[in-house]
Amino acid sequence: MASPGSSFIIVGAGVFGLSTAIHLQHRGFKNVTIFDKQDYHKSAYSPFDGGDSASADSHKVIRSAYGPNKPLQDLANRAIGTWKQWNADSGVELFSHSGWARVTDIGRPQDVDIATFNTLKLVGLGDTQYFLNNDEDLKRARQQGWYGPRFDQFNRRERGLPLDGVFDANAGMVQADLACKYALQLAKSGGATTIFGPGQGEFTEFIRAENEPDRVIGIKTKDGKEHRADYVIVAAGPYTPQIVPELQSFVTATAGNFIFVKVPEHVRHRYEADVFPTWAWNYSGNSESGGLTGFPVDRHGNLKISYRSPKWTNPVASTSQEALISIPVTIEEIASHGGPPLSPLEETKAFIKENLPELVGEEITLAKMCWYTDTVDLQFVMDRVPSTEGLVVVTGGSGHGFKFLPVLGEYVVDVLEGKSNEYTQLWKWRTPSAEDIARIQTNTTSDERNWHKQPLASAENLKW
Ligand SMILES: Cc1cc2nc3c(=O)[nH]c(=O)nc-3n(C[C@H](O)[C@H](O)[C@H](O)COP(=O)(O)OP(=O)(O)OC[C@H]3O[C@@H](n4cnc5c(N)ncnc54)[C@H](O)[C@@H]3O)c2cc1C
Repeated sequence: MASPGSSFIIVGAGVFGLSTAIHLQHRGFKNVTIFDKQDYHKSAYSPFDGGDSASADSHKVIRSAYGPNKPLQDLANRAIGTWKQWNADSGVELFSHSGWARVTDIGRPQDVDIATFNTLKLVGLGDTQYFLNNDEDLKRARQQGWYGPRFDQFNRRERGLPLDGVFDANAGMVQADLACKYALQLAKSGGATTIFGPGQGEFTEFIRAENEPDRVIGIKTKDGKEHRADYVIVAAGPYTPQIVPELQSFVTATAGNFIFVKVPEHVRHRYEADVFPTWAWNYSGNSESGGLTGFPVDRHGNLKISYRSPKWTNPVASTSQEALISIPVTIEEIASHGGPPLSPLEETKAFIKENLPELVGEEITLAKMCWYTDTVDLQFVMDRVPSTEGLVVVTGGSGHGFKFLPVLGEYVVDVLEGKSNEYTQLWKWRTPSAEDIARIQTNTTSDERNWHKQPLASAENLKW
């Protein structure tokens, strides 16, 4: 069990690693070193400056809408409270309380939105949900100041197009890069040391105790150096199963896509958060991206839209099992291979043509893949690795982990201190069923998902 003098190595400075570092320090553990193969001091977690991870992004949805899942709803509500506190502490609007419009053209709200409404009602937050075709809700929205263009940001009604869904006033977004930068600053000001960059920051292998191969006592990095600590915490996102092969049967790397469109200056006011909130189109629950998800214009004038259907895989041979596994591909590898898949770009352009016609023809500044770390049940994994002393994993963000940045690490420290609670139980090490393993396998190898089998988007395809 960790004790006050214990030392910790964290591999990975994404959301899971940062949150762990912050909460270790909150509980009085001072000897913390964070490694990352990327130099986040240089990229500042910006995808426009080379940041290449799920955490290094412009925006993420912050919501407590979790359908019937009350534990995650409760935790997200607690996180939202801390996001507001971080806004005040940092003096930067990291979290923007823009609301989240989950809109659809299926003629009724999605089942998951009704489930969310019922679960929020249990904690007195039912009135934060405004169904777009419910007159009582619209009246309430007017009284409470939420009503306005944000209730039909695509102007569908006026154009005679179907519109249904819900406006969720208990949600918004974070500026993801600034949030990670702030969290890194918190970790460093609490005393954490960082070793970043290819070479010195890149984990290559564990150091094991002499005559005790089941005890990890440190790591080696690519520059050949050895670093020792009482605990090694692996928070390497989609690379985690390569580092801890025991995870390969229930954690896998899959990719979503996003594109950024430059909004001309003279119409930017129409895409600011107060009139153009965070949105989802035909949202299906589980993670943020059902069909498409989008955000208000960012501080650089870009509109981000993400598209995730299907999630892509990159199957390769595994070193620990017969079956193929899916591992991430870096920005550079994607570029040299020919680009991200073409279909999301085409689908997103089609969506823009129907819903944001004034942006047709505007510059597409970036189209990229973004790697999720998916578990079979889309719950995180935060536990000691069975039968290996000194080794802990914190991973499986499954497309919805960012919002928990302010609170996640509390439970990692609980694990280290041997404390059990609802969340350590929810995220404990799990053995997948035979069906789960078969599903991962089918998804990993299916031609429909394998990105090598897709037509790819060249620079030419970024044009309209
Ligand atoms: C497209 C997309 C959209 C999403 N949208 C949302 C959203 O709207 N809201 C939300 O709440 N969540 C969202 N998520 C989920 C959220 O982004 C993730 O849960 C979270 O960022 C995962 O953080 P992480 O630290 O586990 O992984 P990562 O961000 O992948 O970080 C892992 C880090 O480990 C480092 N690393 C890997 N291997 C090594 C090594 N050998 N040595 C050293 N370092 C290494 C990497 O460089 C990286 O920095 C989304 C995810 C994706 C992919």
